[in-house]
Order: sequence, then structure tokens, then C-alpha cells
Amino acid sequence: MEMVHIEPLKRRVYSLLFVLGWLSGMVAWGLAEYHGMISVPLRLIFLANALFQPLALMLVWQNRFPLAYVDIFVVGFVAFITAVCMALKFYSEVYGPSVFLEVMYLWTPIIYIFAFSLPKREQALHVSMAVWTLLFLVSLPYLFTHGNGMPSYLTIQFHFVTAALIAAFYFFASFQRHLRLAQLNVEQMAELANTDTLTKIANRRRIYEVMNYERLRFTRYGHSFSVLLFDIDHFKKFNDQFGHDLGDKILVELAQRVKEVLRDVDTLGRWGGEEFIIILAETTFADALLKAKLICDHVAVKPLLEGHTITISGGVTEVILGDTPDSVLQRADVALYEAKRLGRNRAEGMPSDELEHALRTLW
Ligand code: GH3
Ligand code: MG
Ligand code: MG
Repeated sequence: MEMVHIEPLKRRVYSLLFVLGWLSGMVAWGLAEYHGMISVPLRLIFLANALFQPLALMLVWQNRFPLAYVDIFVVGFVAFITAVCMALKFYSEVYGPSVFLEVMYLWTPIIYIFAFSLPKREQALHVSMAVWTLLFLVSLPYLFTHGNGMPSYLTIQFHFVTAALIAAFYFFASFQRHLRLAQLNVEQMAELANTDTLTKIANRRRIYEVMNYERLRFTRYGHSFSVLLFDIDHFKKFNDQFGHDLGDKILVELAQRVKEVLRDVDTLGRWGGEEFIIILAETTFADALLKAKLICDHVAVKPLLEGHTITISGGVTEVILGDTPDSVLQRADVALYEAKRLGRNRAEGMPSDELEHALRTLW
């Protein structure tokens, strides 16, 4: 998931790098030509660079290739050029003087930056170590024979600096990985804290949260909501007859069945045992009662599991001024009891105006 957010940014950064790389390569080439400090192999290298950057840019913008290919491509190219330059400098009497190691070494950290852009830090480490070893081996015979010249001094420093760079990048990659894992744990924990383990729908804690939120919206903006509390009919008998395990499967299937007729804005939760609750956002009592009847029918109309049909009874209530989550639930519970009393497989409730009237006369 995270990669999806990173990719577009990475593509933009890479594009910028390749444009800058191309410009600096061209300027360096121009200066070398101007000062006459150029040779045939150096011209070839500048030419390769002038072609490479646009090619890399094309790779970046062709979404067909994963960016990891671009990383490898850049690492390979810069490592190859560096190795060739070092070899020319150290072992070619003719072309050596036209190679400026100082400039070359300034650019090579690019190798390790791109290597550590690879998705896996182990991959990055292996690629980096392979390049480091290659460059080290290229310089080794020279270092042995010309121990105290300026190029040797520079090259030894270069090897130390790049080794330190690899270690630092590896450390940061590990650190980032730990951070990501910790973040993932927090997200999973939040998910766990809000979910019923059996049915994977909202648990009681989450339902309280949603209800409180809806209640605030109601008091602040007058947006109403209704609550449907429902309970499986004669579930004890079902358990006794078919066993608790099958009973559990029924609970899972029931949640799925009910979800089929809910909107995205409704919240279905397991209130506990074989009691469920639905918070119907922006829904008045009349609509909620219709919905509750529809849900009862939708559950009863066909078996939930092979040969096992169950029915449910529901109690509906709409929020009224002064409600707390508990007072809403209490009314829904009374309505549910009424539905049971009136014969089950049905939904009951009292319209809010009657409710308010009843409450007013009570006071
Ligand atoms: P009623 O129509 O009046 O609701 O009858 P009932 O038998 O369903 O009565 P009640 O709602 O009191 O029954 C609760 C039963 O639900 C008790 C228990 O056997 C069963 N039950 C509660 N929680 C679970 C559960 O997590 N899994 C299973 N399999 N059964 C459960
Ligand atoms: Mg019950
Ligand atoms: Mg029951």
C-alpha cells in the first residue's frame, strides 16, 4: 500500500536527477573539450552519459517497468563508467592523464543512493557490496604498486567513504523498516480493537463510538439516525440441536446476509452473543422500521447454511433530544422485547413523536 503512494514521488525525483545528470554531463563535456583535456575514451563516456540519461528518463515514465529496474540500470551504468575511468587512470599511460578521479569520485555516491532505493534492504546491501568490491579490485593492483601517490591517497579515501556510506544507508533502511513494522502493528491493533473476532463486523466498543459520533451530529446539525437491535429467535434450541460450532457459523453467515441490504453509511455490529445492532445514519423512524422488516424478511427467506433457516426479531428506535447511547439502546431493547412477545420474526418500535409525547407526560 505504501509503495503506491511513494511511486509517483519517486518518479518525479528520478526525473529531476536525470535532467540534472544530463545537464552536468554536457557541461563537463563542453568544458573538457574547451580546455583540450579530452581523449577518445572520455568522449565515448560523455557520449554514453548523454544518451543514458534520456533513456533512464524514458524508463521512469514508462509505467511498464517497476522503478527497481531503473535503480539497477543506474547502479550498473554509473558503476561501469567509474570502473572504466579508474582502469584508464591507473593502467593507461595514454588516456590516464585525461581522467579526473576527483570529479569521478564526487559522482559515485549516486550508485549507493540508487541501490538503497531498491525495495529490499538486503538486495540493496548485496548490490552495493558487489559494486564496492568491483571498484576496490580494479584499484587494488595500482594501490599496491603506487602506494604513495595522490591518486592512491584519493582512492583509499574513496573506498573508506563509500564503505561508510553503505553502512549508513543500511542503518537508515533498517531503521525505516522497524518504523514501518511498528506503524503496521498500531494499525492492526486499532483494527483488532474495533472488530468482533468471530463475525469480523464492528464490536460493541466501535458501536459506542459510532453512536456517539452520530449523536453529536444529531445535536449539532439535527441529522437524525435510528438504531436497530436484533436477536436470533430460539437460538438456544438451535445450539442444543445442532451444536455450538454450527451456531457460530450461523452467526457469521447472518452478519454477511444482513450486510447485503445495508448501505455503506450504516454500521453493523455484534452487540454480544446472538444479538446484533445496526446504526442507520440519516434515517428516520419510519424508514428504519421499513428497513428492519426488510432485514427480517431477507434473513428468513432462504437458509443461511445448507438446510438451516433462522429468523430474527428486531427493535427499532430513532434518536431524540437528550439521548445518551444507553438511553437509545434501552428503548431499542424494549422494542425488541415487544417484537419477541408479539410472535418473533418481526420488527417493532415506537415513533419518535409518540415517544417524546410519552416522555413529556411522564415528566
Ligand atoms: P429468543 O427467541 O427469545 O431470543 O430465544 P433464544 O433461545 O434465542 O434466547 P436468548 O436470546 O436468551 O438465547 C441466547 C442463546 O444464544 C444462548 C446461547 O445458546 C446462544 N448464544 C449466545 N452467544 C452465542 C455464541 O457466540 N455462539 C453460539 N453458537 N451461540 C450463542
Ligand atoms: Mg439473546
Ligand atoms: Mg435469541
